[in-house]
Amino acid sequence: MRDKQKKKDYYKRWLRDHQFYHKNWRKNNREKLRRYREKHREKIREYQRKYHKEWRKKNPEKARKINRICRKRWYQKNKDKCKKWLRAYQRKNREKVNAYQRNYYKERTERQKEAKRLKDNNRVALKIKAEGFITIEEWERLKRKYDYTCQGCKKKEPEIKLTIDHIIPLTKNGTNWIANIQPLCKSCNSSKSNNLLK
Ligand SMILES: [Zn+2]
Repeated sequence: MRDKQKKKDYYKRWLRDHQFYHKNWRKNNREKLRRYREKHREKIREYQRKYHKEWRKKNPEKARKINRICRKRWYQKNKDKCKKWLRAYQRKNREKVNAYQRNYYKERTERQKEAKRLKDNNRVALKIKAEGFITIEEWERLKRKYDYTCQGCKKKEPEIKLTIDHIIPLTKNGTNWIANIQPLCKSCNSSKSNNLLK
């Protein structure tokens, strides 16, 4: 026990002296150090790059966090410059920026509409007491799986608009789980229900 404490104290003292020594040495050899760094600049940079790359690979979570913090700090420091750049860019590329914004809003409304359609579908299923519900992720995944192709006429989005079709209709005791869903275009979907009605 006492031995351990002794060792600890010794190490503490050693570290302090060591640090002190190095600090002093750096102070007294500033010029030398600078010359050394200048001479080996490329080598040092290369070494640092390699070291950091490896470190990032080993600590991806920490690296992401640090990256985020650094970016934020950098932005805070260069806020005015950034805003100026952005404004200049927007002025120069007005058409492009406008098109991008239009596209962004269009896609957003499309996403919102799709979410609403899905909600409506789930509500209808609930109303007629069919089992199951579909999430937007499941529906998106299903469309991707079928390569955005209508399973009736084999036409693709965006030529047609895919809609949710219950393979076994809800009215015939089909479920509202994703396994009972296929993507159909509007016209295929309505002709299918017409056939079922006959
Ligand atoms: Zn179709």
